[in-house]
Amino acid sequence: MQIEQVDEALAEVFGRYSEKWQPADPLRKLIERVLGQRTTGAHVRRAFENLQAHCSGGWADVTALPHDVLVDLIRPVGLAQPKAARVQGILERIYQDQGAYTLDFLREMDLRSATRYLLTLPGVGDHTAALVLMFGLGRPGVMPVDSHVHRVARRLGWAPHDASPKVVQQAIEAAAPAMNMMDLHVNLGNLGHRECRSGMPDCPNCPVNHLCGTALRQPWWAEPGP
Ligand code: SF4
Repeated sequence: MQIEQVDEALAEVFGRYSEKWQPADPLRKLIERVLGQRTTGAHVRRAFENLQAHCSGGWADVTALPHDVLVDLIRPVGLAQPKAARVQGILERIYQDQGAYTLDFLREMDLRSATRYLLTLPGVGDHTAALVLMFGLGRPGVMPVDSHVHRVARRLGWAPHDASPKVVQQAIEAAAPAMNMMDLHVNLGNLGHRECRSGMPDCPNCPVNHLCGTALRQPWWAEPGP
């Protein structure tokens, strides 16, 4: 697995998101992620604006809202009923456990324990937990696997072609346990939008075709054109 080489090659093309990244409140990142499942950032921003307008007391106010009121406030994100239940379930659990609405205690935990805690929260799976650890806490050694990362990583040969997202995540994290993979995560997504899209990939124009197991099995990309 040539993770560092792929990271370098992709950064030359797409840049490094980590240079713009600002430390964030991990609890807000988690709630954004829960609200943002199957919708766009614009809808999530509208839901947050509604929450901020109605909940001047912060997360305590959100927790105390009648369920139907919260559903109305977050309606822009869709699937408002289950998302409202998840948001209040998460906030209640964190307050029970910590006596405060914060995930800052995860900063001091080892990665495995922090992941395990996040996975105990309602509606939080491997992808969401990894996103919070990466973009909320800036933790190295973690790789959220969305559909683009799942597809591109298997094509690169980093995991078997039939590997699940969890197996892909475990393979990448085991190969680079100390690496901050924020740029790699963002740029595998960029590559997945551009050359390594679902369907037929554009291997001849791919910036990492010299490092890719799939492309290296195809003689055509390396041969001189007509
Ligand atoms: S060479 Fe082709 S299969 Fe490999 S990462 Fe690039 S586009 Fe995807």
